[in-house]
Amino acid sequence: MYDIQQIRADFPILGRTVYGKPLVYLDNGATTQKPRCVVEAITNEYYNTNANVHRGVHFLSQQATELHEASRETVRKFINARSTNEIIFTRGTTESINLLAATFCLSQMQTGDEVIVSTMEHHSNIVPWQLQAMQRGIVLRVIPMDDEGNLLLEEYERLFSPKTKLVSIAHVSNVLGTVNPVKDMIRTAHAHGVPVLVDGAQSIPHMPVDVRELDADFYVFSGHKVYGPTGVGVLYGKEDWLDKLPPYQGGGEMIQHVSFEKTTFNELPFKFEAGTPDYIGTTGLAKALDYVSALGMDNIAAYEHELTEYALRRLREIPGMRIFGEAKERGGVISFLVGNIHHFDMGTLLDRLGIAVRTGHHCAQPLMTRLGIEGTVRASFGLYNTKEEVDALVAGIERVRKMF
Ligand code: PLP
Repeated sequence: MYDIQQIRADFPILGRTVYGKPLVYLDNGATTQKPRCVVEAITNEYYNTNANVHRGVHFLSQQATELHEASRETVRKFINARSTNEIIFTRGTTESINLLAATFCLSQMQTGDEVIVSTMEHHSNIVPWQLQAMQRGIVLRVIPMDDEGNLLLEEYERLFSPKTKLVSIAHVSNVLGTVNPVKDMIRTAHAHGVPVLVDGAQSIPHMPVDVRELDADFYVFSGHKVYGPTGVGVLYGKEDWLDKLPPYQGGGEMIQHVSFEKTTFNELPFKFEAGTPDYIGTTGLAKALDYVSALGMDNIAAYEHELTEYALRRLREIPGMRIFGEAKERGGVISFLVGNIHHFDMGTLLDRLGIAVRTGHHCAQPLMTRLGIEGTVRASFGLYNTKEEVDALVAGIERVRKMF
């Protein structure tokens, strides 16, 4: 059913070599490789259907519009949203969070009101709130975690006050791999009358996500991390909430009528989509979601779980290995350090062996501070990685370790 060799054949780049070595691509947390069908869908649209969407009476424009809106429906179905009005196309997770931070804080928050985030957030889910803090005097409250990388849920409960207006948390940590219990955390927030934004950048590619089952008020992700193109992403929001928020950017598409005296705004989802959308990108994204759906998100999750368990077991055999992130529920992101070897040296030497990992703070400096380190080496898996690649990583680390 899950034919890994056939799957790998769908990703031409996996067949290339780096420094004469077969590429072992373990940087999927940063971005994923693209299956041929995604690249072909993009090429095909440029060659055959390219025209600006929504405003054209001509054939090509209408066809491009149909493709673009069909992609919105594909996204809706993928996350089980109620309506396509709830699917806003953005440039990615970062823009989705910035959009929400700006519009939510402007319309729903007063000076002194609070947003709850967690210790393990990506900078994308910290800095947009800090920009609002600078402009509007809102306050960030932070959920602490234990040494294994589990959020302290009792502390989380204690953070709520009448000033709490929003919770914004990662579904899966891009450093620790922790899968946060977002469903329970949403229930807690709702009991306090507070809506929740879930950063799904690291969950959407790896597990089935049902926004209605989670009861998430907002859910955001990037196309490029789920085998789709760069430059396109999604903000899901419950329609009631999106209706309450003002537009983010002004321009074409987001208006109903413009005069110098008064401008009225378009309905959802277009109210939040100023300017020409990345309609080619949305076609690519929809194709990527079709691709992973055909494999089955449950199958992908099960395959990656087994691979991660294997990798953790093998990595722990290495003397001096320190793995950061030992949460009960974890995904296929493994951050580590070995002895006193600097993460940058390890990453550079692994690269020479054809093994692509990421090194550094992974855009989570507050988490690094909490861990008392400057950075880690991070291996992150995708649906096409294999045990042989894990073995290559382990052998590579051993080789580097012996050099030191
Ligand atoms: N949130 C998390 C948890 C991430 O891992 C990332 C990217 O690594 C982002 C947000 C930002 O995503 P993007 O750069 O695609 O906007």
